[in-house]
Parts: sequence; C-alpha cells; structure tokens
Amino acid sequence: MINTHAHLDFDEVKNFDFSTEETIVPSIGKENWSKVALFDFFALGIHPWYVDQHSDLDLDLLEIQIKKNKPIAVGECGLDFSPNHKSNQLKQVYFFKHQLHLAQKNNLPVIIHSVKANHEVISHLSERDNYGVIHGFYGSPEEANKFTSMGFFLGIGHAILKPNYLKMESIIQTCPMDKILIETDDDNPGDLTKIASKISSIKGLSYDETVLNCDNNAKKLFGI
Ligand SMILES: [Zn+2]
Repeated sequence: MINTHAHLDFDEVKNFDFSTEETIVPSIGKENWSKVALFDFFALGIHPWYVDQHSDLDLDLLEIQIKKNKPIAVGECGLDFSPNHKSNQLKQVYFFKHQLHLAQKNNLPVIIHSVKANHEVISHLSERDNYGVIHGFYGSPEEANKFTSMGFFLGIGHAILKPNYLKMESIIQTCPMDKILIETDDDNPGDLTKIASKISSIKGLSYDETVLNCDNNAKKLFGI
C-alpha cells in the first residue's frame, strides 16, 4: 500500500516498520532536502511553518535542487493560518505562490498543506493550472468539493479516525473514489491500514478494492 505522505526522516517515525509499503516523503525546507532525496519517492519544498528560515535565495536553490534531484512533487508547501502560525501570512503566501509557479514550470504535482486557509488556497489555485493533493485534508464539504472539482486529490489521514469524524465521513461519502489518497503524516504511520479500512467502510467497498483504488490514484498523480 502506498502511504502518500509520511515524514520518514523525522526522528519520531524512524522506528516504524515500513517494509510492506511504499512511501512518499515530503520535505519541510532546505535542511532536509538532501535527507529526503535518499528515499525512493520524495518531494522538495518549503513548508509554511518554516518560511521565516528561508529567503529568496533559497527559492532559487529549491529550483536548482528540483532540476538536479528530480523529485516526484513540489512540497510540502502551502498556507497555515491557525493561531500559532498565522503571524507571517504575507510571507507564507509569497513562498506558496512561488512554489506553485515552480511546480507548474517543472510540470510536477504540488503537495499542499492547508490549515485554516482553504479559502485562500482555493483562490490561489483557481488563478493557475496546478495539479496535486491537499494533504491531510480537513474542511467543509463545499471546500472538499471545490478542490476535487479543480482536479485536486484529497489526502485522507488521521482526521477520519478521530471521534468527531462525522463531518469527514460525509466528505468521504461524496468525494469521488478517484480523488482519494491515503496518508499518515508523522502521526502513527502504523495506522495506514486503519485509515484505509475506515474509508472502505464509509464507501461500502472491500478493503482490497479501496487500497487498489487509492494506490492507483497515487500512481496516476505522482507518476510512480
Ligand atoms: Zn506533512
């Protein structure tokens, strides 16, 4: 099974056994670009939490790294306007737009982190021709619908295992099966099978059918 988003280079996930799955490993900034490039499938980008540690020069370096190391996507990039992270919104937008441009220019999908910012992310994406995934999607059914109708995939993770997953359940119900990806992020990567089985029960599909479907979606999006 393909885990479409897990930070395998982070200390807290290093000890999990990933032998039965293929994993897409995103980066968070210049300090782990070379680390993630050691994995089979990796993405290069600057995460919105770390834009303050980066400059215009780093955006140039990112482009050089993309051309040299051939990642399968640009990311993790995006916007995070939650209370702890929203103090530098303008800088986040600047880095996000630049990375959308880099993805388009290099014909790569984008892996997008969108927290309390779905509205803004939708408005930026609607101005361009990017494609990719809204990783760890959390939002309203309308926002889910908007993203998928723009051709974006929704990365479904731990949010559907939480007790208050009812909103997510209705999103999974209405989301086309060919737009769903499975991921764990850095929170219990061993839960990948639980997430897949929750999706299968909501969709009324067998577990195997669900996994096959989501794996095919990942292969299609990332060209792997
Ligand atoms: Zn992540």
